[in-house]
Formats: sequence, C-alpha cells, structure tokens
Amino acid sequence: MSLSSVFSRTRMTMEVEGAVQGVGFRPFIASLARRHQLGGFVQNTMHGARFAFEGNSKDVARALKDFNTLPRLAFITRKTVCHDEPLHGDTTFRILSSDFDGAATAHILPDASICPDCLRELFDPTSRFYRYPFVSCTNCGPRATIVTGLPYDRPKTSMRDFSLCPNCRREYEDLSDRRYHAQPIACPDCGPQLALWDKDGETIATRDDALRIAARAIVEGMVVAMKGLGGFQLIVDATNEEAVRQLRVRKHREDKPFALMYPTLALMEDHAILTDAERALLSSAASPIVLVKRKHMENVSTRECYPAHNVVGERNPLFGVMLPYTPLHALLLKEVDRPIVATSGNRSDDPIIINEKEALARLADVADLFLVHNRPIVRPMDDSIVRMTEEGPLILRRARGYAPFPVRIPDGTHTLLAVGPQQKNTVAMGIGGDGRVSQHIGDLGTIATEESFIHAIDDLKMTFRATPDLVVSDLHPDYSSTEWAEGSGSRIVRVQHHVAHVLAVAGEHGLTGNYLGVAMDGTGYGLDKTIWGGEFFAVSDLKIERIAHLRQFRLPGGERAAREGYRCAFGICDQLHDVETNDLPFMRHIGENEKIFRTMCEKGVSAPYTSSVGRLFDAVAAILDVRHRSGFEGHAAMELEWCADRGASGKHYDCSPFRITQETDGCMVLDWREMITSLIDGMRERIPKEVLAAAFHDTLAHAIVMIAQQQKEERVVLSGGCFQNTRLLETTIRLLRESGFVPFRAEVLPSNDGAIAYGQLVFARQPKEVS
Ligand code: ZN
Ligand code: ZN
Ligand code: FE
Repeated sequence: MSLSSVFSRTRMTMEVEGAVQGVGFRPFIASLARRHQLGGFVQNTMHGARFAFEGNSKDVARALKDFNTLPRLAFITRKTVCHDEPLHGDTTFRILSSDFDGAATAHILPDASICPDCLRELFDPTSRFYRYPFVSCTNCGPRATIVTGLPYDRPKTSMRDFSLCPNCRREYEDLSDRRYHAQPIACPDCGPQLALWDKDGETIATRDDALRIAARAIVEGMVVAMKGLGGFQLIVDATNEEAVRQLRVRKHREDKPFALMYPTLALMEDHAILTDAERALLSSAASPIVLVKRKHMENVSTRECYPAHNVVGERNPLFGVMLPYTPLHALLLKEVDRPIVATSGNRSDDPIIINEKEALARLADVADLFLVHNRPIVRPMDDSIVRMTEEGPLILRRARGYAPFPVRIPDGTHTLLAVGPQQKNTVAMGIGGDGRVSQHIGDLGTIATEESFIHAIDDLKMTFRATPDLVVSDLHPDYSSTEWAEGSGSRIVRVQHHVAHVLAVAGEHGLTGNYLGVAMDGTGYGLDKTIWGGEFFAVSDLKIERIAHLRQFRLPGGERAAREGYRCAFGICDQLHDVETNDLPFMRHIGENEKIFRTMCEKGVSAPYTSSVGRLFDAVAAILDVRHRSGFEGHAAMELEWCADRGASGKHYDCSPFRITQETDGCMVLDWREMITSLIDGMRERIPKEVLAAAFHDTLAHAIVMIAQQQKEERVVLSGGCFQNTRLLETTIRLLRESGFVPFRAEVLPSNDGAIAYGQLVFARQPKEVS
C-alpha cells in the first residue's frame, strides 16, 4: 500500500429517509464530522436528510462506523450511499438551511418517553430543571400531541405561547447542546405549570404543591384525573382494592383489566417475569403498556405493594404494565412509591378527553381531583399496548410512541382517505407512498367517538394540507364510517372487511404477486351478506378470490352472540346430530329458552349464518366451560388461551382434525364438526380443559396449514383479530415454516381492526377484482 493511498482524501454522500427531522439528526452528523475532522455539510430534504463527508478516507470510514449509534428518536427506513464522489475541497463542516416546502412529506413524529439525561436533571437539585414536570430535549418529550402543523417548528406547536427565557433560548440555539432546536423546550421560568383543581374547577394548589397533594390524595384512596401527555388519565392506588372498585363502578367498567404504572423497573420485576426483550420495550422511547406474565403474590418480596386482585382479575396470568414515560409521571410515581392504575380518562369506551373543560364536565362524578396543566394537547393519544411473542412485538393498540409515523403503501397519485371499520376504528390518509394512520379512535356508535372520528379526519386533511379525491370504506352498510363516507359526496371505493385485513398485513411487508391470505377474525360483512370471519383468499396482482372458509353456523340472537358465547356454542352444537349436547354446562345459560333457540336456528329467524373463527373461539370457551359470557371484546377467547397456557403437565389430547370438504362452486370448507365432537368426547372422558383448550388451538393451526397445502402458494399472510392470540399465532407460524411455507404477520400495525383503514388504502392503491 502506497503512502498516498493511506492518506488519500475521499468524499461520500448519503441520503436518508425515515425519522430524521426534529430528532437531533443534523447536530449528530455535525458532531461526527467534528470528531473525525471531516468537511462537508448536512441538510434536511423533502424526504429526510442528506449529508456529505470529505476528508482522510480512514477518518470517513470511522465516522461511518459511528453513524450506527443514531440519536434516540432517529430511525432510517431507507438510505442511499455514494462513495468516491468528486472532491469539493471542503475542510469545514456546515449545517445548511433547507428551503423546501416540506408540507406534504415531512413526518409528524410520535411522542417519546423521557430520556435518561432529562430524568437525571429532573431529580438533580442543582439542575435548573429540578422537579420540573415538563422538562424535555431533542431526544425525548411530546411531538404528535403538540404539533399543529408542518414543518415541525415551535410556532406550529402548542408551545408557541410560551416564549423562551434567556436560558432556554441559549440552549435552543447552541448547536452543541442537547436542546438545540428542541421545539418543546421549557423550564420553570418560562414553560407550562401544574395546578390542582376540585370538581368545580377551583384551584386548590399550583406547581409542586399541586403534585404533592395529588400524590397524597392517591395514597389516601381517591381517584385523580390527571392531564397527561395525550389526554386525561384516571389514577388510583393499585394496591387499594376499594379505590380500584370505586373506579370500576364510576367508570362503568366491570371486569376489563386495568393497566398498571410502576415507579421502578425493580419493583415491576418483583411482581412480574420479564424477558430482556420486554425490559427493552418498557424502557424504549415508545414506552408502551406491555402485557407480561405476572407472579403470584405468594412469590413476591414486596407483597404490600402487590396490585389488588380486582385490577386485572384473579384468572388473568398477565399484567399490562408500563413505566413513567413523562417527567410528570416520574415525579408522581416517585411520590406515591407504589404501582398505580392509570387508565384513559373517559367513561367506559368513550374517547380519551384532552381538555380541562370537557374533563370537568364529563368526569365530575368519576374523579375526586383534577391535576391539570396549561400545555394544550393538540390531538388525543392513548397508551399503546404491546405483547412480546416468539416472533417479536405484537402491537395490540397503536397509539402513543408509534402513531402517527407513516406506514408505506404502494405509490400513486390519488389522495386517499380511508374511514376504517366500526370497532377499534382508525382513519388513514394515503399521500404518495405514505399511509398516515391515525391513532386508535375507539368503537364508533357513540356521539363522542363519532366526534373524534370526524376530528381525526379533519386533522389529517389540515395537517397534510390535502384534499382526498377518493374515499375508501368497509362493505358493511350499517357501519357509521361507511355512512359517513356515503354522505361525504366523494367518489367511494368499498372494500370487504377481511380483504382489508389481508391487504393490511401484505401492505406492511410490501408483498405483490401471488400468495394465500388468511383472515381469522371476529365479524365482518361478507360478499354474500352473511357474517364472515374465517376466510382464505387466493391473492394475485389482479384478483382476490375467496377459496376456503370455515363451515358456517347460526348465531341465535345475532349480535348478542358476540357477548354471550353460549349462543355460539348452541349454534355449533345444533349441527351435531349424533352427539348428546343437552347436558353440557353451557346449556344452563339457555335453560327454558332451548325451544326458542332451536326454532331460531331451524328457521333462521334472528339467527344469521357466520363463518367467524372469533365466534368459534367463543363457542369452544363455552363448550369447555371456560367462559360463557364476555365482559369485553375477546374476553372468552382470551380466557381460552390462558386456559391452554396453564397446560396440564405434559398431557396431550389427540383431537380430531378439521375436515376439508368442497362446496359445489369449488370453494373449500373447513368442517369443525368432528373436531368439536372430539372435544366433547374429551370432556366426557374428564380430560382437563387445559389440555382440551391447547388441543383446540393446535388443531386450528393445523387446519390453516392444511388449506395452505391445498393452495400451494409459498407465502401465507396471517391477518385478523384472532391472531392477537399469541398461542395461535406462534403455533401457526411454526407449523407453516415446518411445512416449507413463508408466513407473514402484522408487525407495524395491529392484527385487529385497528389496521383496517390502512388495508383499505392498500386496496385502493392497487384495486383487485374480488370474488
Ligand atoms: Zn430528554
Ligand atoms: Zn426557560
Ligand atoms: Fe376485523
């Protein structure tokens, strides 16, 4: 090697896309250049950022190695690198201003949990941010919940009315400071402040006093409504059974589990079994609620801090836990020093409340005190919920920390608005190759959720200054979202619910060409006007054809069957003619209505047909005497999964498989009759229900593989709400791989209806003939 090559100069450039604006990316690149004595520049672009390094080739190589330690909130979705560019003779490094109109392409970043540096300052008596509940920096703090418009800049946030004090201004303008261009920056001298109100909105205390009194009230057993990051939360002491009971009564929430916030990871680890992946997720910038395995109270050393039994329910093997993700939460939890219940501030299933007036009006008989502040929340943001699986994180609710970062869709010129389904509604806008999915809105059908549905649509239009020229909705004529679309006066495309489920997962992975699409779901309106939910589709670039489905059964009482699983069990058993089912435990719930039920099924009067796997789960839960009624959506299926997970050491039950039959039109049918009969036989042989529940999960996973083997497409897309069941998901994926298939699952978006709006966008970008 010659001397000249050792000391040769070189220039490289890189274009990056992803979350690189407003996250300290430019100062990061500038500091790399400084550290390695490189010249060049860095600049924001329409799609992200671009930079050049020029200098000694060894130094450039070292800088690129360090490039992998990106700032906490930055992530790159695409990069284009050019080495050996012509030299410009740059010896200094410059941050160039950008003069583009980034309105349509810049991203609104998700909110980020408090970073370790800010947390240190929060509890450091010598810091000017000591005990300041709104400390933040470039690496943490609010984003989506304060942005009013793009490009992201202080005047376009809800911080615009707080003018920077000289200290904050200095840090904001100092390139070497952690708060350089940190838009939400504020301190006790210039930023938002806390206040504690009674039910009439009278101020009881302000600033640190407000926080300390609120903490004491929680310890005393009161319900405190706290204005958090993305809305009001209702908070009670989780170790106080009576306080939790009060909250349930006042909120009209009977048995749906509450999420817990722990003061420290150490205390959490005493109460729950955490894996490394779960620990990392809990302390990530997203800091979601993570569903983890809980320990029994007998096995913990801090029993006095163990959550009361009515927080998640006796039988629930899981805890939904999170760590304090804002400085406000960190201060409060330090004060109360025990786990708290922190649940959305609303009544039952209404959307989360974001302003003080509404909170006082709607939570007056729910909360005893209101801990508020004067930083306006621009858009609501619930806590996200994630569960770790063998396959990585499974998003159950996508909101804080994830939304509204865009998810790619096939590129196109139309501006699309997808209005989503009825339940777990989200809306989405498709601009170019970006699908912008709103945060979780909730179940439509109440005035409050429909208002927030309309707000979310207006928000998308205003933020991205876009007018949709095509509206995409579900096929279901009675969904509120469909009705809104019909009334919008726009051109409309309607997409069958399970087609949207399949395309949502395929879209995330950018799949084109031929594959098998599987939708295992609760309910959706089918092409034949029956209720679908166990569907298999052969997908190609031009067509999507239903090639198999679950054998249909009747749901006596229609929609009530979703909450009363014994109705599903009746509909199933009604088709088992050679089997005695009258003495099964679920029949108790039918009692003298048996004749009426029988007639309903025979005549098909208010007993619609369904091919829903979700309802099959409800039926099996009732047949196995695990759960006959659901207190919330998916309740019975969840208990069936827990039951299977409890297992019965090493025991296995040979359940009869599903049988594949053919309909006259060639469509395959998954017939469950022998499988169910075999489960009933197991009951009579007194096989533990844990073993039977496990056998049911396995048999269903096998059935999916059987259809895949018939269809012979290598790629299999798994979609729909039933794949929130970790056991079903993991088993199906494992069996498919063992048989040589390549399975795909929901990764970025939920597997449930939260992904429907996105699936609708994907369909509208590449419409297919559906049959
Ligand atoms: Zn920070
Ligand atoms: Zn200040
Ligand atoms: Fe669905």
